[in-house]
Amino acid sequence: MDDFFSRDITLLAGLDKARLLKDELNIHTYEDLLKHYPFRYEDRSRLFTIASLTPATPNVQLQGYVTKLQKVDKGKKKLVAQFEDQTGQLQLVWFHNFSWIIKKFKPNVLYRIWGKPVFLPQGQVQIMHPEVCFIGGLQKKENLLPLYHATEKLKRHQLDTKGIAFLQNKLLSQLCTTIEETLPNYLLIRYQLFSLKEAFRNIHFPNDESLLRQARRRLKFEELFYIQLKLLKQKQIYSIKQNGRVFNDLSLFNAFYHHHLPFHLTDGQKQAIKEIYRDIGSGKQMNRLLQGDVGSGKTIVAFLAMLMVVSSKVQVAVMAPTEILAHQHFERFRAFAQHLNLNIALLTGSTKKKEREHILYRLKVGLLPIVVGTHALLSDAVAFNELGFFIIDEQHRFGVAQRAGLLTKNQVYAPHILIMTATPIPRTLAMTFYGDLDLSTIYELPSGRKPIKTQHYYENFRLKVFNLIKEQLLLGRQIYIVYPLVEASAVLDYHNLMDGYTSISRAFPDTTIGIVHGKMDGLAKEIEMKRFEKNETRILVATTVIEVGINVPNATVILIESAERFGLSQLHQLRGRVGRGSAQSYCILMTDYRLNKIGKKRMEIMVKTNNGFEIAELDLKLRGPGDLMGVQQSGLLNLKIADLSKDGAILEVARGIAKDIIQQDPNLQQPDHLVIHKEYTRLMASGGDWNRIG
Ligand code: ADP
Ligand code: MG
Repeated sequence: MDDFFSRDITLLAGLDKARLLKDELNIHTYEDLLKHYPFRYEDRSRLFTIASLTPATPNVQLQGYVTKLQKVDKGKKKLVAQFEDQTGQLQLVWFHNFSWIIKKFKPNVLYRIWGKPVFLPQGQVQIMHPEVCFIGGLQKKENLLPLYHATEKLKRHQLDTKGIAFLQNKLLSQLCTTIEETLPNYLLIRYQLFSLKEAFRNIHFPNDESLLRQARRRLKFEELFYIQLKLLKQKQIYSIKQNGRVFNDLSLFNAFYHHHLPFHLTDGQKQAIKEIYRDIGSGKQMNRLLQGDVGSGKTIVAFLAMLMVVSSKVQVAVMAPTEILAHQHFERFRAFAQHLNLNIALLTGSTKKKEREHILYRLKVGLLPIVVGTHALLSDAVAFNELGFFIIDEQHRFGVAQRAGLLTKNQVYAPHILIMTATPIPRTLAMTFYGDLDLSTIYELPSGRKPIKTQHYYENFRLKVFNLIKEQLLLGRQIYIVYPLVEASAVLDYHNLMDGYTSISRAFPDTTIGIVHGKMDGLAKEIEMKRFEKNETRILVATTVIEVGINVPNATVILIESAERFGLSQLHQLRGRVGRGSAQSYCILMTDYRLNKIGKKRMEIMVKTNNGFEIAELDLKLRGPGDLMGVQQSGLLNLKIADLSKDGAILEVARGIAKDIIQQDPNLQQPDHLVIHKEYTRLMASGGDWNRIG
């Protein structure tokens, strides 16, 4: 194909319409138009009879004769036609623009009409403003009729759904001679995929449902295949360029594992450690994502992995998204590390100058094997003697771009990278967003934990909820009470929080109550959290600042106010603040009565399951992938046809094939793969959305 796809749409649509298409729909080329897929189809393949209509019947197609035609009402503003087939009669009604209709209808001529039948109380059936075709004029059988998105402006200029269909049809007639296949023949045969030509024809003008399904399958496959190919090719370039230092000294690992490990590891933890060990011994730089639900025990995995590097007198850095979390990691790693007399330091934005200088010096000369910190670790002032391992506790707060910056920290070898996330990501998303990372997943929680009991209440049950809190306080437990905080209404939220604090203080007068929120400075927050950790405060009233990082096993209740204002994964994260000790824990979701359908569904899901992976999958279905990953990456999701919440199966197959191909033929030089090479090169050169992937 010369560059059929990239031909300017002006060639097809003419100057004026092309301008409109460009401005309104961002359609610049033939390809853009072809990939402006219908959002729905109307079934014109079936003919209904009038007798079979019911009030529930949607838009239908009928065939018959017009037997009477008259203007009614005083101002003759209404036109009514009697329409009959062999089974009955109904009325067609127009309220305006009907002079052409009067001219159009002839007696004893067969017409096809399309519209929604309405049943009047008197039993009469009407169709308002039906579409009308003269059957003699029909060239071919009508099928599934495509409906295209168009803007009001386009509609005013004959570029409504019909106008766009007309252009599609015109383009498709040229396509037959000009378009080249973009997938190798052997794949089309092996997976019984439509050719590209067939797919385009049938996605726009399918003759029946089954052809439409096949067209969709082919186009989804192609879309996902090339994205995977791109991600895998990046990874391949990466691993070719980036050699990694080999670590296989297990002396410290064994010393800790056999003498100081506080519990038996779960199978998931063992598996993750094995995968990391294999990676860092392979000679290639590791890029691995470790995902596991809150409480699945990622910290010990990270620590054991660290030891494999520290044994070789090489340094490790751990980066956390917030000071609180960095601090907490530091405390926990320090508790482990002191068994082996390993030095460890904490470096954050608020580390005092003198201490900072001391840390920087020891990092530089190699006296400090482990440093934990915030993004302060990325500043230019930080230099390592040799950094062998970078652990990022991501929690979705660091972007992919920031990862790249870390690599320059080391001269000879790039450090191995482990990213930890407590937000379980559905497989399809992980494969798309983190396609360049290998994935370790801890699915299970350590045994012996009591599942958290989750309950959803409306305001009228507040007394009952407060009684539960009282009971737990009497048992010596601690309580979180969480209020939403959304940028857009920060002032209002602040008031809610303060009102809440006041009413909680009134309800629990003899109880010490702390409060943390986003308006407090880092130190004040930390002091409050510390007081709660030490059980000096029994109730902590907070905004979502406690979402990550706080670890108080004695807290057994989390009460989430206005729970409808939180997303599912956030609710699940918050719930993870309790259930950390051996006692039964509770998560209570309070909502407004006026709960919309999605809100209700979210509450149901939370009550039903404790499993973060299940929640993530359901969240994806409920919200669509864009939302789930945050605004930052949503540009990635400009998928034209595939849907990550539904097309996981196709994605898996496409990824598997892409992997095989890259492995056998990294440069896509085999004759079979030349079409892939060509399409891949074309996509890479085309820029736009596609280049944002990865
Ligand atoms: P994550 O970071 O994945 O949310 P943590 O590493 O903080 O989880 O672990 C949660 C709690 O579970 C910690 O108190 C930790 O000591 C404990 N823990 C971790 N692994 C195990 C295990 N295999 N058996 C029992 N307890 C464990
Ligand atoms: Mg953690």
